[in-house]
This record gives sequence, structure tokens and C-alpha cells, in this order.
Amino acid sequence: LVRITDLHKGYGAHIKVLRGLNIEMKPGERVVVIGPSGGGKSTLLRVVMGLEEIQQGSVTFAGKPYISAEGSKTRIDTEQRKKIGMVFQHYTLFPHLTVLQNLTLAPRKVHGVSRSAAEDRGRAILARFGLDAKADAYPSQLSGGQKQRVAIARALMLDPQLMLFDEVTSALDPELVAEVEAVILQLASQGMPMMMVTHDMWFARNVASRVIFCAGGVVVEDGPPEQVLGNPKEERTREFIDRVF
Ligand code: ATP
Ligand code: MG
Repeated sequence: LVRITDLHKGYGAHIKVLRGLNIEMKPGERVVVIGPSGGGKSTLLRVVMGLEEIQQGSVTFAGKPYISAEGSKTRIDTEQRKKIGMVFQHYTLFPHLTVLQNLTLAPRKVHGVSRSAAEDRGRAILARFGLDAKADAYPSQLSGGQKQRVAIARALMLDPQLMLFDEVTSALDPELVAEVEAVILQLASQGMPMMMVTHDMWFARNVASRVIFCAGGVVVEDGPPEQVLGNPKEERTREFIDRVF
């Protein structure tokens, strides 16, 4: 589904973050990326979302070229990018729009879907997530967990073939984490391919079909969750797991 080849990405002339990273993700896989803070996990997801310039390497998506470094330029296929959804740590809902308006904005403006069709779909997704009663509420009237569920619902409006989640529960009070994780687990059980960063070990074990430990801008260890989280082969992974979890 996603093939990342020799990815190099830094910020400015001096900060090198990703240094020749390779990942191949198959359809249906749920990849959890773990690694030290500042190691480039968010950068990796932002690259896959097509939000970043890269210095070297390429990404293919669904078998087609998607992102490539060509000289000093980064070429990104913006049609391909529309097939990927992303949710961030901090809520990115539009505060002046209701929940339903947040959901229908992109389908209507970007994809030319009619208002009634977009609203029908929006209400159906909200119902699935137990948020039907909140369709006309504004983001400021929602709990953090509800906001993140709305953010996930909004990303699903465009029928993504891949979802990216970057620490979507890290800013939440502990009692709200489970309701957001439940929504992601629901998507996982329906076969949605996903790549995510999380520090929640329980959740990682439950959701991942594969765990990738990144450090120093490269993949250090890559395998099933029982291996990478439970019995890592690499010394650097073991140190990290012992320290963090
Ligand atoms: P965390 O676990 O703390 O979220 P991370 O693995 O997600 O960390 P990134 O956010 O990808 O790490 O950051 C990797 C490095 O790139 C860090 O040193 C960070 O300071 C730097 N960096 C990230 N974004 C930018 C930016 N827009 N401009 C300059 N440097 C940046
Ligand atoms: Mg991060």
C-alpha cells in the first residue's frame, strides 16, 4: 500500500531527521511507529500525508508514484494525497463551524459533493461513533474525547484508503482516552489500513499488526507487536521499551 524508499528529510540546512528510512506497508496492515521523542515519528507521518518537502527518496501509494525528491524540488501527487486521512494530537476542528459543518466542508468544497449527500453521510458516521446528538454543537461545546472522535469522523468523510494518527490521545484526560481508542479499534476491525504513533502500550498491542521502532532517522526494528514490544531482538529497542513502558 505504501512503499517508502531511502527517505531523507530534515529541516533547514542543519537539522537532519530521517536518514534513509525504508518501510513497506501492505494493504490491511496497522503499523504503530514508536521511538524516542524528537526522533522523527511525526515528521514521518507528515511526509506520508504529503505535507512536507523531502530531500531524497520516494514514496509510492497504492502502487503509484506519490512523493519524490527531484533535485531540490519535492513532487507530490495531490490527487493521491486525497486518499489519505490524518488526525493530529491537538484538535484541528474549525471552531466557528458546527460538528456537521466541519464534516461536510471538504466533501462539498473540494470534492463537489452536494450538501444533502454530504450531510447524510456525515450523520451516518456521527451515529456510528455515538455522536449523533452533537451534529449541531460547536467544537467548544465538546469534550476533548468528543473533539478527537469528530476529527476522526471528518477524516473519514473523504473515504480514505489509509489513516494516519499522530498521538491522537496524548492530550486527553485519561478517562477520555478509551473512547477515542475504541473508535480507532472499530476502524481497525473493519480493515482500515493505518499508520500511527502512540505511547499507549496497551493500545499499541491491541491495534497493531506490526510495530516499527525508529531511531536515528532509520528503522531499527520492525516486526509483530509481540516481538518488538514484548521481546525485541535489537538492544536499542529493548533499552527504549524498558525505559518508556
Ligand atoms: P515526539 O515523540 O516528541 O512527538 P517525534 O518523533 O514526533 O517526537 P518530530 O516532531 O518528527 O519528532 O521531530 C523530529 C525533529 O525535527 C526534532 O528535532 C524537531 O525539533 C525537528 N522539527 C520538527 N518539525 C520542525 C520544523 N517545522 N522546523 C524545524 N525543526 C523541526
Ligand atoms: Mg511527534
